[in-house]
Amino acid sequence: MTNVLTLSQKLEFLWKDVLSVVKEGVEAGGYPKAILDNFKPLTRRQVQGFISEAKRSPNCETCESNCCARLEGKILLTLKDVARLVDAGLADSIVGTYKGFSAILDQYLLERNPDVFSAVNVMMNEKMNETSYMPSLQKVDKLCVFLDEANRCRAYKVRPEACRRYPFDFDFHSHWITWDPACPSTQSLTEDQQSPIVSAILASENERLRDIALIMLDRDALKQIGFGDYL
Ligand code: SF4
Ligand code: SF4
Repeated sequence: MTNVLTLSQKLEFLWKDVLSVVKEGVEAGGYPKAILDNFKPLTRRQVQGFISEAKRSPNCETCESNCCARLEGKILLTLKDVARLVDAGLADSIVGTYKGFSAILDQYLLERNPDVFSAVNVMMNEKMNETSYMPSLQKVDKLCVFLDEANRCRAYKVRPEACRRYPFDFDFHSHWITWDPACPSTQSLTEDQQSPIVSAILASENERLRDIALIMLDRDALKQIGFGDYL
C-alpha cells in the first residue's frame, strides 16, 4: 500500500532542512555569506513580552464585534496556510500567487542585500497587506469566503495563520507582542495563557522566515512537492 504524503507533510520535510537550502542557495548563486549569517530564527529570549494593551484575552464567545465580519484587508497566506487549504480540498478559496513576492526577493538577491530576511520581514509587516504579492483568501461581497450567515468560520480547523494569531501580532522592530485595538475584549490575560501565545507567535514568525528562505532560494523544490500553481 502506498503512503501518500499530504502537501503539509511534504512542506514539513523541506522545512527540516531549510538551513541547507539557504546554504546551498547562497553558495550556488555566489551571494554574500552574510545572507546565510542573517538567517536567524527568532528565539524566546528575544521576545520582549506583551505590551500593556496586549495583556488581554479575546472573549470571542460573547463578542458582538465579530472581527471576521468587519475585516477590510486581505488575509495573506503562508506556505503552510496554502498547504492546509489544499490538503482540505479547499484550494478554490486561494486567490493569487507568490510571483510578486518572488520578484521582490529576486531584487534583494540582485542587489546582494545581506539584510534580506529582516528587510523583508519589516516590509511584510508594513506593506504587504496593501498589495497583492502573495496568495490570499478569496472574498465574496467583501467578506471572507469562509464566513457563514451566523458570522462563524466554516473552515476553523484550517484557518490561516493570520486568523490564528489575531488579535495578537508581533512588532518586528521592537520585538513586543502587540494587540489590535479593534478587538474590544477587556478580559485579562492570565499568566498561564501567556506562554502558549508567545510560543505561537514565535512559531509563526519563524514560519515566515522559512517561507522567505524557500521562496527566495529553492522555488524548484517547492514546485516539485506541489506548490507549482502558487509560484
Ligand atoms: S474582535 Fe476580538 S473578541 Fe471579538 S471575535 Fe474577534 S478576536 Fe474575538
Ligand atoms: S478564515 Fe475564518 S477566521 Fe479567518 S477571516 Fe475567514 S471566517 Fe474569519
